[in-house]
Amino acid sequence: MGDNMSKRLKLISATEAEMEERSFPNPYPDWDQGALTSNSGADVDYNEPLDAEGKISASFQKKVQNKIKDLLQQMEEGLKTTDPHDFSTYTGWTGIALLYLQLHRVSNEASHLQRALDYVKRSMRILNGRKVTFLCGDAGPLAVGAVVHHKLSNTADSKDCLSRLLQLQRSVLTVDSEMPDELLYGRAGYLYALLYINKEIGPGTVDDSTITKVVTAIMESGKNMSAEQKKTDRCPLLYEWHKKQYIGAAHGLAGIFYMLMQPGAKVHSDILSELVRPSIDYVRHKRFRSGNFPSSLSNESDRLVHWCHGAAGVIHMLIMAYQVFKEEKYLKEAAECADVIWQRGLLRKGYGICHGTAGNGYAFLSLYKLTKDKKYLYRACKFAEWCLGYGTHGCRIPDRPYSLFEGTDLQQKRLSRNESLIAQK
Ligand SMILES: [Zn+2]
Repeated sequence: MGDNMSKRLKLISATEAEMEERSFPNPYPDWDQGALTSNSGADVDYNEPLDAEGKISASFQKKVQNKIKDLLQQMEEGLKTTDPHDFSTYTGWTGIALLYLQLHRVSNEASHLQRALDYVKRSMRILNGRKVTFLCGDAGPLAVGAVVHHKLSNTADSKDCLSRLLQLQRSVLTVDSEMPDELLYGRAGYLYALLYINKEIGPGTVDDSTITKVVTAIMESGKNMSAEQKKTDRCPLLYEWHKKQYIGAAHGLAGIFYMLMQPGAKVHSDILSELVRPSIDYVRHKRFRSGNFPSSLSNESDRLVHWCHGAAGVIHMLIMAYQVFKEEKYLKEAAECADVIWQRGLLRKGYGICHGTAGNGYAFLSLYKLTKDKKYLYRACKFAEWCLGYGTHGCRIPDRPYSLFEGTDLQQKRLSRNESLIAQK
């Protein structure tokens, strides 16, 4: 027993060391509901950056706005040294266009929309016809292009982008193609582009029959894989990417199911109940005791808390499942994901969306939107506060600095290209 025990202890400390290695210990106190109710109106700083009424304080807003200005300048400078051929939303020019589009939404400044146009035009000149998704393929620039032109009332240009986007469906709908289904490179990532168009330009801009065809292709692919793996009873929709059954948002089931549950995907409620719900429940059974999720169905180590792999991506599937199926268990597990992200989500990998602290912060925002619980707004602000300390935590330098999904890193500025390549190893 002694031997077993010491083995187990070794295992536990190894896991803890691993967690230490992947994330920083969260230095912030958690949200204190009591401080809000008992000190209402008083000058409290327990829950800073929320004020006594639970609203984001003016001083914090100012701090964020100033930092954005500062970082934009540094990004523009840094972009001069990045890969000129990367047009993607994930790491290239379209991601920068999308950033300016979002800034325009918030600030209403015309110059931001103009910047978005400049960057997306640059992307559209270098499309390569290799990938079809919003994040990594031609669909991203075309969809963002359609939206930017629409906002500028360039109707003909917007329509041109849209028709080019729709032409991509041919390869998406081919049943025996090598096309995966996941969000980054597969059919779900094309569906994202179509739904994005309808959300931004208006319902029906992409007609229902096109959307239904894409959704059907995703469904058929999942049913086939499930039958092939003899899992029809337990998990009627199953997907692989590079021969692995991933769970996370980027390459896995969570990202695909999240897309299928979107109201805009118009999947019939019977189909959702018969095929999507049991498949989600199958994924739920793979959950770790910590509340985190494995990166794939066969992976048993509780390591990654990213948007791409782990709780920070799966939480979005659980939130959608709660909205669609109205069962408390989904909300409960989403809240447990949020607890894991709070504890282990300040990542040493950096500040990006895909596998960084900012992407993890979005999990809190989604849960806040759903529940209106101030705890999640507070946690999102704290993660934002962490990100305001850009470059001061000694995080790793991302593969693609100055990009939407991997984020900038100010250390990059102090290192030559060669030094930074060595530092990445
Ligand atoms: Zn990632």
